[in-house]
Amino acid sequence: MNKYGYLIFVILLLLGLLVTTFRTGQKLHVGFLDVGQGDAIIVRTPSGQNILIDGGPDNSFLSQLADFLPWWERKIDYLVITHYHADHIIGLVELLNKYKVEHVLVTAHQPDKDFMYQLWQKALVQHKLESTIVRADQKFIFADNLSVRVLSAEDKQQDFNGNSLVLRLSYGQIDFLMTGDLPVEGEQNILAQGSLVSSEVLKVGHHGSKYSSGQAFLQAVNPELCVITSGKDNKFGHPHPEAVKRLENSGCKIVNTQNQGTIRVISDGQTISY
Ligand SMILES: [Zn+2]
Repeated sequence: MNKYGYLIFVILLLLGLLVTTFRTGQKLHVGFLDVGQGDAIIVRTPSGQNILIDGGPDNSFLSQLADFLPWWERKIDYLVITHYHADHIIGLVELLNKYKVEHVLVTAHQPDKDFMYQLWQKALVQHKLESTIVRADQKFIFADNLSVRVLSAEDKQQDFNGNSLVLRLSYGQIDFLMTGDLPVEGEQNILAQGSLVSSEVLKVGHHGSKYSSGQAFLQAVNPELCVITSGKDNKFGHPHPEAVKRLENSGCKIVNTQNQGTIRVISDGQTISY
């Protein structure tokens, strides 16, 4: 092999190594992106599928997303919209210009007169995309040991937060509970249905509002890590001291995007690291 042949060999080897690291690391990466006051959560599966839950309050979410994913990635396999509030959806309009979105999962809540909802529907039509309505207890299987179950998908609540799409993502022995902005009443409904909620990682409901994270729910979830997605100096005063107290009493370690920036949780299906 001449000098150039050797160089090309080394470059190909390094590229192969890079791709392997991202694609078959056998690890699940979950990023709670630092988007200020709002939610944007990206899940990258060991086989390189991307599940995005919400898109934050503005386009700054896109640079956070790009930082999290491998540089070549331009595809979102599943986009989940928890509910139609600005702090969860505004960044998604521009997302559609930058990424190829395969599936959009929503609840049956269709607030036709709501401005944000109309804006989003227009963006979907522009990109020839249609939403798929999901129901509670529906399950999506991504691999033998990787699935997502819908725990709540209400559509009749006056308060949009009550219609939050709630998911439990399971990878091996590890579970992540993504609650959107679900209030205590919604948590109680989930408990009343008898759904399995216990999870190592809890995306704390409604940015740490005192109207979410009820004691009974926390007891059932029994989280090891509680992730709060709130913005610095937000006008709502999130997270509320009462909610923080309940989270502390549940025994979980509390992390917050407003202090830590983007929080990346990595799991091999047995343990988590962050
Ligand atoms: Zn919110």
